[in-house]
Amino acid sequence: MADIIPAECVQTSAPIRWVRVALDVPLADLYDYRSNEAVVVGDRVIVAFGRRKMIGVVVGLPEVPGCDPSKVKDVLAVLKDIAPLSSSWLHFATFAAEYYQRPLGEVILPALPMPLRSVPSYQGKRSGAGPVVRLAKRRASQQEATATSVVPQLNSQQEQAVTALIAAKGFKTFLLYGVTGSGKTEVYLHAAAQTLALGKRVLMLVPEINLTPQFEQSLRARLEPVAGVNGVAVMHSALSDGERLRAWLRVQSGEARIVLGTRLAIFAPLDDLGLIVVDEEHDPSYKQQDGLRYSARDLAVWRAHDLGIPVVLGSATPSLESWANAEKSIYQRLDLPARARAVTLPSVRLVDTRRLQMDHGLSPHLVEAMRARLANKEQVLIFLNRRGYAPALHCNSCGWVSQCTRCTTFTVLHRLTAQRAQLHCHHCGLAQNVPKACPDCGDQDLQPMGRGTQRVEEHLAELFPGARVVRIDADSTRKKGSAQALFASVHAGEVDILVGTQMVAKGHDFANLGLVGVLNADALLFSQDFRAPERLFAQLMQVAGRAGRHSGHGEVIVQTGYPEQAVYQALLKHDYAGFARHSLQERQAAALPPFSYQALLSAEARELTPALDFLRGARELASELSAHYQTEVVLTLYDPVPLRIVRVDNMCRAQLLLESTNRPALQSLLRHWLKLLPEQPDARRVRWQLEVDPLEI
Ligand code: ADP
Ligand code: ZN
Ligand code: ZN
Repeated sequence: MADIIPAECVQTSAPIRWVRVALDVPLADLYDYRSNEAVVVGDRVIVAFGRRKMIGVVVGLPEVPGCDPSKVKDVLAVLKDIAPLSSSWLHFATFAAEYYQRPLGEVILPALPMPLRSVPSYQGKRSGAGPVVRLAKRRASQQEATATSVVPQLNSQQEQAVTALIAAKGFKTFLLYGVTGSGKTEVYLHAAAQTLALGKRVLMLVPEINLTPQFEQSLRARLEPVAGVNGVAVMHSALSDGERLRAWLRVQSGEARIVLGTRLAIFAPLDDLGLIVVDEEHDPSYKQQDGLRYSARDLAVWRAHDLGIPVVLGSATPSLESWANAEKSIYQRLDLPARARAVTLPSVRLVDTRRLQMDHGLSPHLVEAMRARLANKEQVLIFLNRRGYAPALHCNSCGWVSQCTRCTTFTVLHRLTAQRAQLHCHHCGLAQNVPKACPDCGDQDLQPMGRGTQRVEEHLAELFPGARVVRIDADSTRKKGSAQALFASVHAGEVDILVGTQMVAKGHDFANLGLVGVLNADALLFSQDFRAPERLFAQLMQVAGRAGRHSGHGEVIVQTGYPEQAVYQALLKHDYAGFARHSLQERQAAALPPFSYQALLSAEARELTPALDFLRGARELASELSAHYQTEVVLTLYDPVPLRIVRVDNMCRAQLLLESTNRPALQSLLRHWLKLLPEQPDARRVRWQLEVDPLEI
């Protein structure tokens, strides 16, 4: 098979074909070209765009071009090194583009591995016939066969869940509501095995890259007998271009029967799916935070709908959106109310820090409980969602606090080595040396303010000299593979005390962890974001769920200055359902999601004024449009407001929130609105972006 057919080699007598091409350019979406050779929808082509050459994807073959035919340029080459993208995949991508109000090319192209969408990989002396052929020439890497692990006998609840999933004919959304440690993974694995046995493929999404090795291991061990040695493909953002290409090709060719991945894997090119799994469906990492701001969880439901297959969303603390859908029987709930191994859930204790003498942020209760667990040879997890040594550096004489010069935030003190420290901005990445003296008053006595994971780690090592303390956060795991190695050492029992951020809270099945201590949980309590309590509750339940998973009698100690808050009271009783009921009532009273739908227009500029002016104009426009098009639909337009951290990387940011109880009406308004926004007077002075179903407000 010829891999590339240069356009000039094809006979000119062939009939002219007009092709509509999606390109990854920020402007309009689709551009028409002329091709003298056979092209089908889903093919990739090289075309000239302005002065550049780009790779695009053919999404249509119009009878006549959308512009003056004499101005239409020729396709430079048709790439035939892979099968065309399927129509069902393109249909899915089109839905995503329309729903999130973005150009189609911005959805399609980034979903392809880099080598398949970059012109240089097809041109120049060293390119050969392109990346696909080069890859094939190298010996295909065979995965080592994995040792088969013991398959536990499902308990009756798990059995019922698997049966329901497999019995589903056609589209159906299941909410697998199982407490932490209830064995949701087993349900996924059994349902996946049965789906594979029926000749269908499986897509399994997890929120974090760090969870993929753990899942991958079980998947390979359990499912390779059904799926084949190369039957499992893993997709996440930390793969190299080559690794991603290899995985993608195995999926597209049909060799890989199971795809395991983080949110981007929702765009994996597989059609004959029989089941989609979204584990920890409530997790905010399913939401992409730039470019196409999609929710992989929501897209999973839509993709399942489109393909007519079941999808299962699993969580111990479902998102209120999913819970509300289950309450309305739009989703079918499957419950795993008890832990699979341990008889009990961990006991939770709230330690009121208001009247306590704390030692480096640790209450006497926590220290004592740690001592007891360590003496009993159990592991302890200390959770603090704040990395670095201290959140700021502070001058005791004049009150100076270290601040970023580019953002309206404090800079975080980081220990690089025992001798060397730096101040880092967690928003723009700026790194500064620590000043020798206060820049304002010259006093040399600068002190760290508050504490982060590094400082806690340091103190725990002093407090428990015999204990092996390990810290797992974004800083300690920068090197590829290091997170995996650290988690492996915890599982192997080479660690006594684990200090970590949310990275350690999710999913991990630690066998010997008896105690979880939560420091500074209150940070999220008073956030402006209406989802903050939901997020805090999920986070606390998750991290609490790491304790006593195998042995039972696990214990959780939460240090708080506000033990009476509803979030903590619900946590005390492991009462997700109660918390959800209470929160949904509040949401309903305030007409907030899931009782309404939102879109967020954000704008940024060097100065705040143009950003706010643009948003005010945009608000005016939306109000006119809604009066004109949809008189009966209630649209709430909030006032444009600056963000809490108003300046980041020298750009001032503001946002405008739109809300409606009618989703289709909101969607159609957004479409009209987006066409007109570029003509707004301030549109060229600001960078703006629209987000549908924003998660953070
Ligand atoms: P979840 O994802 O619901 O938090 P896991 O799937 O990690 O829970 O399961 C928790 C532990 O229980 C794991 O060690 C798992 O191997 C074990 N497990 C799951 N199902 C069973 C079962 N039916 N019998 C015995 N152990 C089980
Ligand atoms: Zn000072
Ligand atoms: Zn900064």
